[in-house]
Amino acid sequence: VKPREFEYVRPTTVDDVLALLAERGDDAKLLAGGQSLVPMLNFRLTAPDLLIDLNHVASLRLLRRVDGWLRIGAMTRQSTLEASATAAESWPLLRAALRWVAHPPIRNRGTVGGSVAHADPAAELPVVLATLDAVFHVASARGRRSVPAAEFFTGNLSTVLETDDLLERIDVPPPVDGTLWAFKEFARRHGDFALGGAAATIVRDGERCARLRLGLMGAATVPVVADIAAAEGREIGSLAELDVTDEIGDLIHPTPDLHGDAQFRRRIVLAMAHDAVRDAAARATGEPLS
Ligand SMILES: Cc1cc2nc3c(=O)[nH]c(=O)nc-3n(C[C@H](O)[C@H](O)[C@H](O)COP(=O)(O)OP(=O)(O)OC[C@H]3O[C@@H](n4cnc5c(N)ncnc54)[C@H](O)[C@@H]3O)c2cc1C
Repeated sequence: VKPREFEYVRPTTVDDVLALLAERGDDAKLLAGGQSLVPMLNFRLTAPDLLIDLNHVASLRLLRRVDGWLRIGAMTRQSTLEASATAAESWPLLRAALRWVAHPPIRNRGTVGGSVAHADPAAELPVVLATLDAVFHVASARGRRSVPAAEFFTGNLSTVLETDDLLERIDVPPPVDGTLWAFKEFARRHGDFALGGAAATIVRDGERCARLRLGLMGAATVPVVADIAAAEGREIGSLAELDVTDEIGDLIHPTPDLHGDAQFRRRIVLAMAHDAVRDAAARATGEPLS
């Protein structure tokens, strides 16, 4: 299948991208890694008049720690973030989740910003970035704004981004020292989109849990993040026995498709949530990871 004919431009600065979007945004698409957009063009699920290639805008490729925050330019390749020692040292959840994103050749082209802007509810990065309270920096010719992760995703494949908006950068806040973490997902084959998954973080207060947070993937049309009240103050070693179903059950409304009905997907998300809590706690107790 071939895409409909389109114009192609290759700007080199953010200002040029914003000017193009201001003029032609309604009829244009931004091209990042192309790993989601190109199949959609080929199937004519989208048919823009203009493709604005972001691959030559060098300022969108930054990846560094600034004042304790991790700054991720939108055009940072998924594989670059996966390989980053800085990211792995302080935000290990990112690398753990990225290993589940498709296959290495796709992560070599696919970008962090593209994954976030595409907003697939079964994608790893949106849910992990939401769990980590990331902030999304959006620019347009109208100005710049920062959007917290909790407000960025609005539905299946949709976000607050307008047709003249560019996602410029994603900032991840400094981690709390000693935070325990785990990422679990279930896919039919490694590299397939997940049927369900969960990220868990445990902020410690000595041997006790100060905060247990779960990020749920494939649970709804947007990433679902919940802090588990029943975990507060409990000994970390006892969290493996904690049943989180009461607190997250009402938040899980998966979309059925040919890979699984809603009930099947719901059970997978719950199982991944329990496994993630158990594995995060096991990092403190030395129990083997599942
Ligand atoms: C076989 C296969 C398997 C895959 N499996 C997975 C998987 O398991 N998990 C997963 O998470 N993903 C998976 N993906 C998708 C992959 O992660 C994509 O790289 C990602 O969804 C989109 O990133 P991209 O850089 O390729 O963006 P593109 O495809 O170029 O763009 C995607 C969308 O985002 C918009 N966009 C891109 N950048 C910006 C920006 N800076 N500002 C505003 N809008 C922007 C584009 O206009 C487009 O609408 C898979 C892809 C393939 C082909």
